[in-house]
Amino acid sequence: MEVVAAVAAWAVTSVCQNAGSEHWLSAVCRRDGNATDLAGRLSPGAAIYTPGSDGFINATSRWSVFDAPTVNIVVVPATENDVAETVKYANEQDVPFLAVTGGHGAITTVGRMKTGIEIWMNHLQDIEISADGASAKIGGGSLSKRILDTLWAAGKQTVTGSCECTSLLGPGLGGGHGFLQGRHGLIADQFLSMNIVFANGSLHHIDKKTDADLWWAMQGAGHNFGIVTSVTVKIYDIEYSDWAYEMFTVTSDKVEKFYQTINAAIPNNGSLPVNVIHYGYFYNDPTIDSKGPVTAFWILQEGATSVDSAYTQPFHDLGPFATEAGSGNYLDLPVWTDLDNSAAPCQHTGFANTRFPVDTQTYDPQAMRKAYDLFAKASLETPAFNGSFFLIEGYSLQGVKAIPSDTTAVPFRDGNLLIAPVIRWDPSDSTLAQKAADLGNELRNIVFEASGQSELLTYVNYAFGDETKQNWYGFEQWRQDKLLAVKDKYDPLRKFSFYAPIA
Ligand SMILES: Cc1cc2nc3c(=O)[nH]c(=O)nc-3n(C[C@H](O)[C@H](O)[C@H](O)COP(=O)(O)OP(=O)(O)OC[C@H]3O[C@@H](n4cnc5c(N)ncnc54)[C@H](O)[C@@H]3O)c2cc1C
Repeated sequence: MEVVAAVAAWAVTSVCQNAGSEHWLSAVCRRDGNATDLAGRLSPGAAIYTPGSDGFINATSRWSVFDAPTVNIVVVPATENDVAETVKYANEQDVPFLAVTGGHGAITTVGRMKTGIEIWMNHLQDIEISADGASAKIGGGSLSKRILDTLWAAGKQTVTGSCECTSLLGPGLGGGHGFLQGRHGLIADQFLSMNIVFANGSLHHIDKKTDADLWWAMQGAGHNFGIVTSVTVKIYDIEYSDWAYEMFTVTSDKVEKFYQTINAAIPNNGSLPVNVIHYGYFYNDPTIDSKGPVTAFWILQEGATSVDSAYTQPFHDLGPFATEAGSGNYLDLPVWTDLDNSAAPCQHTGFANTRFPVDTQTYDPQAMRKAYDLFAKASLETPAFNGSFFLIEGYSLQGVKAIPSDTTAVPFRDGNLLIAPVIRWDPSDSTLAQKAADLGNELRNIVFEASGQSELLTYVNYAFGDETKQNWYGFEQWRQDKLLAVKDKYDPLRKFSFYAPIA
């Protein structure tokens, strides 16, 4: 283990010795001409990756490369204190820093980090279940799959994101949707306490009692205040181990009927049983439908070995192109829905993936038809957008709505559906960025305008980056004032202002 730190120290020294004042590493290197002092301050298990190394490439690869942060050096802390030391070091050197865990954060504001230190949380993945089995302390770098498997082996579960490859805290600090939210609320609703490194590099244990306003802000706007090195969350006995799914592939001639059917058969307004979820997306597949996008649509049911036909029969009656059904347990959900570690959404392929989310109450079939038509037309006109898709997510809502809206910084508890076009393109073509933004915004506006809502709420963790603070964190003035006051208190120098900044 010591060798890692020693090698890191040598590597940094060597890079820094070759870095002239114009070198893009010079900001990190300038103190004493090297950065060996950083390696010397970290624990033996920590690592520092310099550009060009395999470790650096792995740590900095991202789900979306558009407007990615410019990383000069990667620090991989092995202890919570290593995170604190790295932040102190960055402050001494006057270089910016950004925590990265799963690398799926795609909001363009992170691109404002230039010539900075990435603090890759990947080694902080310990999970300890409490003696009473009611909570678990989870390392600040833990990814969903590890949490799912560890808890499941102990007969437990908690709310995580649906995807195996995202972290707990990346989604959780912005709310965090997941398959179990109908029962227990969002990921952020599971937080009991956390260890956090503040902007000055001090490490603290916080909970609701230490500072109620900070605690409130960590649940929904938490990327703005510190680096969470571990979090203690509520966990639950596995009550229902069975899950079932039916999947429908629906062609573009049935768009209006398809959304009418969702609205009628599985209206996602909180009145459905807590154990029914829908999820899907439309995408281009000319081998199935040459006239327009194809929809892949899942109905998931907890505590069942087959999905109740009351929910599925109306979709069979539509005459879908294909159907599929199966059953298993909770761990199978990401595999069924193409969200497991080996599925396409988990790969870092060098593409730009730009999302344009909008929360709505129900589907407007005519607006969805308009969105399909525009999506199809844009894909024809710009084949470079062919890999794009359009998410439709209807998680169950009881647990989310049961928590009073003003008790956390999460602004979207009233929203029923999460709708988001994802425009995918090759960033080597510089003409595509503006086109992608225009298309994404146009698609989002079609849905928003038909929603009858006066305020556009965009789930912060899906946001593109051109939205307002009100879109991300709510339109109530008291929310904005409270967030700003907490920001001024805990991050007056705006060190944590890369991911969806409040200020
Ligand atoms: C394939 C895919 C599936 C998704 N599924 C879901 C889902 O089911 N539910 C859902 O709600 N969202 C989901 N999302 C959106 C997801 O919430 C965001 O993309 C989120 O930013 C991913 O977190 P990450 O750790 O993977 O990304 P990162 O880029 O590593 O982190 C995002 C940001 O979080 C902050 N951060 C990361 N770690 C820490 C830490 N320990 N302490 C403080 N700040 C930290 C940093 O500001 C960082 O820029 C999904 C996204 C993708 C691409």
